[in-house]
Amino acid sequence: MSNALLKGNTGDWEMVIGLEVHAQVLTKSKLFSGASADFGGAPNAQVSPVDAGMPGMLPVINKECVSKAVRTGLGLNATINNVSIFERKNYFYPDLPQGYQISQYQHPIVGNGEIEIDLPDGTVKKIGIERLHLEQDAGKSLHDQHPQKSYVDLNRSGNPLMEIVSKPDMRTAEEAGAYVTKLRAIVRYLGTCDGNMDEGSMRCDVNVSVRKPGDPLGTRCEIKNVNSVRFVQQAIEYEARRQIELIEGGGKITQETRLFDTKNGTTRSMRSKEDAHDYRYFPDPDLLPLTVDNAFIENIRKTMPELPDAKKKRFVETFGLSAYDAGVLVSEKERAEYFEIAAKGHDPKLAANWVITELLGALNKAEKELKDSPVSAEALGELVGLISNNTISGRIAKEVFAEMFGTGKNPGDIVKDRGLQQVTDTGAIEKLVAEVVRDNADKVAEYKGGKDKLFGFFVGQVLKKSGGKANPGMVNDLLKKKLEE
Ligand code: ADP
Ligand code: MG
Repeated sequence: MSNALLKGNTGDWEMVIGLEVHAQVLTKSKLFSGASADFGGAPNAQVSPVDAGMPGMLPVINKECVSKAVRTGLGLNATINNVSIFERKNYFYPDLPQGYQISQYQHPIVGNGEIEIDLPDGTVKKIGIERLHLEQDAGKSLHDQHPQKSYVDLNRSGNPLMEIVSKPDMRTAEEAGAYVTKLRAIVRYLGTCDGNMDEGSMRCDVNVSVRKPGDPLGTRCEIKNVNSVRFVQQAIEYEARRQIELIEGGGKITQETRLFDTKNGTTRSMRSKEDAHDYRYFPDPDLLPLTVDNAFIENIRKTMPELPDAKKKRFVETFGLSAYDAGVLVSEKERAEYFEIAAKGHDPKLAANWVITELLGALNKAEKELKDSPVSAEALGELVGLISNNTISGRIAKEVFAEMFGTGKNPGDIVKDRGLQQVTDTGAIEKLVAEVVRDNADKVAEYKGGKDKLFGFFVGQVLKKSGGKANPGMVNDLLKKKLEE
């Protein structure tokens, strides 16, 4: 369901979307205990008495989490608050042994910011960030281990999360997808979250409402814990349609929390939305207000890497890449690094082309990650060099690349071993041209009689005779000359 289709089918409705993204801070240990925060341990193997909510245990803030929250805030161009406060968010759940979650409410560590999202038509839109706060994750109930019993795994209990809340600035599922993608790229560049959505280290709560453009905001529904970009988009499309149909049928949206069903792409009601006061937030008496002074913030600012937007701008300005190509390359840090190595000393536009089309295409087909690429960035750069200096044609280069990808050999060796050097010897090409003209007398006559498009046929024949090695430009020139005789 595209936006156009939505209009076509349901009148002039506008979707309004705001996302709350939970991003697990990339640290060794939990937010308030020394237990490991790694993913995938045996159940309940990473639980300290603090995480288990034992009486008398006291939380101690993990400084690394504070520093990474600040780092992320700076990456989101956001205000960093010198004082923030941890509060208890009280609710009962079997996987929440403390009976409350330590979170930040009225005074988060990071305030307003913004990120730029890149849309497929090449335009950029700014999405506001409302806040980023630190909070503990809850444990996990397991309902599929025993026919009558539910089990609880507390490994995740106390894991450090950054909740990053956007303003309701998105208007299409596509924009929401671009937002999550960009946010993930930013935290990965910063090294503050691994962004692995399938392991749950990044999860989204998706808020959706609909309205007629210009009207005040409609009532929102919140879809919990959506764990891939594609699901975020599907959930939005479904939910917006559901709301429109309900309203047009004379119904009313009630604010509620919904679940996304990945199997059939629908959402269903989970519970009506609790109001904030139901959580009885109050400052955690076990924790002092968190203070970060300006020196602490400035020290972190000094270590900020070049982020995707800045990198994209640089790629466009210094390498002459299109905004689209630059966007593809910077979308992952490793990809941008690979490109810069491949382009070093070579034609950057050609290198970008080879990375985007050939390399990423081959990796995708082989279901491999860039880090497992059989072709190193240096080797790809070398291949680009061989094309630029006319040692091989672009066509032969594809063959060489396939062999590099299959065997990990370097391009120079492949070209030498298989004798693939481009033929640029005028005499040799003239000889092939003469043969083709001689063997196809009938076609030559037709060509001379005005059937111009046969020219391509002659070029093809000469290239074929050369085993694909004749320089195509020279073949063109020499053929033209010969046929004009
Ligand atoms: P809660 O704790 O109720 O989830 P938050 O303030 O943490 O509230 O998050 C609210 C989210 O909902 C934000 O991302 C915000 O942009 C979004 N939002 C608020 N109002 C609307 C609306 N009318 N339609 C869509 N999204 C909305
Ligand atoms: Mg929230």
